[in-house]
Amino acid sequence: MYNVKSMNSNEFIDHEEILSTIAAAKKLATSKSTIDRILEKAESCTGLTHREAAVLLEVTDSEILDRIYISAKKIKEKIYGKRIVIFAPLYLSNYCVNNCIYCGYKCSNKIARHQLTQEELKLEVRALEAMGHKRLLLEVGEDDEKCPIDYMLKCIETIYSEKFKNGSIRRVNVDIAATTVENYKKLRDAQIGTYLLFQETYHKPTYLSVHNGPKQNYEWHTEAMDRAMQGGIDDVGIGPLYGLYEWRYEAIATLMHAEHLEAVFGVGPHTISFPRLLSAEGVDRNSFKYLVSDEDFKKIVAVTRLAVPYTGMILSTRETIDFRKELLDVGISQISAGSCVGVGGYAQRKGVDKNGVEEKPQFNLADHRKPIDVIKWLVKDGYIPSYCTACYKEGRTGDRFMPLAKSGQIANFCHPNALLTFEEYLKDYADDELKDMGEKLIDIEIQNVPSEKQKNKALKYLEMIRNGERDLRF
Ligand code: SF4
Ligand code: SF4
Repeated sequence: MYNVKSMNSNEFIDHEEILSTIAAAKKLATSKSTIDRILEKAESCTGLTHREAAVLLEVTDSEILDRIYISAKKIKEKIYGKRIVIFAPLYLSNYCVNNCIYCGYKCSNKIARHQLTQEELKLEVRALEAMGHKRLLLEVGEDDEKCPIDYMLKCIETIYSEKFKNGSIRRVNVDIAATTVENYKKLRDAQIGTYLLFQETYHKPTYLSVHNGPKQNYEWHTEAMDRAMQGGIDDVGIGPLYGLYEWRYEAIATLMHAEHLEAVFGVGPHTISFPRLLSAEGVDRNSFKYLVSDEDFKKIVAVTRLAVPYTGMILSTRETIDFRKELLDVGISQISAGSCVGVGGYAQRKGVDKNGVEEKPQFNLADHRKPIDVIKWLVKDGYIPSYCTACYKEGRTGDRFMPLAKSGQIANFCHPNALLTFEEYLKDYADDELKDMGEKLIDIEIQNVPSEKQKNKALKYLEMIRNGERDLRF
C-alpha cells in the first residue's frame, strides 16, 4: 500500500502506485488542457508531483516537447544561474564481493584487483589537484574486509590534507555501498559533502535478478538514504541506472523517492544522477532490453528538472560530447570532467598484477576530454564553469540549503562563487587561450551579480584572488 512517509521501501516505492501512475498518465496525456495546467505549474518553479511529471513523460508532440525543454532551461537558469559545477570521480578500490550483471567490477570478472595505499592516494590527489579539481566523488567496490569504513575514513582524511601548490580538495562526496546509521555518522564526522548511492533499479524483481551478493537486499539498499539522514548526513544523492528496467518506471520511482525524503526529513535529495548503462569488461550493453534512447533520455532529464527544480542534476562522462551539450540545456547542473574510472588512473598507475592480468575500468566512457577542454567548451556556450564548494563550507546544507534553493536565492551565491572559483582556475591552471576567454566572460558576468554591494565585494575578492589569495566565497 503506497505510503510516502513509510520507512518501508516497498511502501514508499509502491509498485502498484507506479503502475497506476503510468496508466493514468497515458490517458491524461491526451488532454491538452491537462498538459497546459501541469506546464504552467512547472513554470512557476514550484515542482511537480510524480503523477504530474508522469503525464509529461508521455508527451510525444514535438511542439509540447520543445516547450518542456525551453521551460527546463529557464528554470535551471532561474534557480542556479549559468554555472555548471565540475567534479571528478576517484576510484579507491575495485575489490568487490557482488556480481552485478551490469558492472565491470563484478566478482566473476577475472580482472586484476587493487586498493590504493595512502601513498598512492596522495599521488592521485596531486594529479587531480594539478587538473584544478576541488570536488571529488569517491568510488569503491563493496568489500567489507578489503575496504572497511575505517579505510574510507583514512582516505578522506588524506584527501583533505593533501595540498599541492595552490590545489586543495574542498569537498569529498562519497559513493559507498548501503551501510549502517553508525557508519553514516562516521562519514558525517569525517566531513563528507554528499552521500550518493545509485539505486540501479527501483523495480524489485529486476533488482533481485541483476544482483548477486550482499547488494541483493533490495530493502537495505533502497532505505539507505533514510539511514544516512538518520546518521546526520544532510545531503544525499539518488538516481537509477537507466537501461536496467523500463525508463518511465525508474523516472517516476526516483521522484517518489525524492517525495519520501522530503515528507520524512523535510529535505529532498541534494542531487539526482542520470547514468545510462554502458558496456564494460564482461558486460555487453546490447544484451539489455530496456536501453533508453537519446530522445527518451532527454525527456526524462527535462521533466525531472521541472519536477524538482531545486535539486542538483548530475551527468557523467558516460555520455558523448554532443549529447552532454543537449542535456546541459535541459536541466543538468553538474558534470564530471577528465574522469578516470580505474584505480590509480589519474597518476597513471600501471594496473597489472604479478601474473600479467590487467585491471579494467568499471565501464567504458564516452567523453575522454581533459578538464581544460571541457571548460573551454562550457565557456564557448556561455556557461560559467564552477568549482564552488561554498555551501558545504558555510554550513548551507540540508534544511538550511533547501529554502535558499526553493526561493531562488541560491543563484545569488552560485553566480559570484562560480566567478571566484573560475578566476582561481584561470590563475592556476589555464592556458593563454582560456585565460583570454575566461577573463572576458568574468568581465561580462560580474555585471550580472544582483546587488551593488555584492558586486563590489565580488570585485574585491577577484582582485584578492589575482593577488594570490584562495578559497574566498559568499
Ligand atoms: Fe560491485 Fe558496485 Fe560493481 Fe556491483 S556495481 S559489482 S557492487 S562495484
Ligand atoms: Fe553549489 Fe552552493 Fe556553490 Fe551554488 S553556492 S555552486 S549551490 S556550493
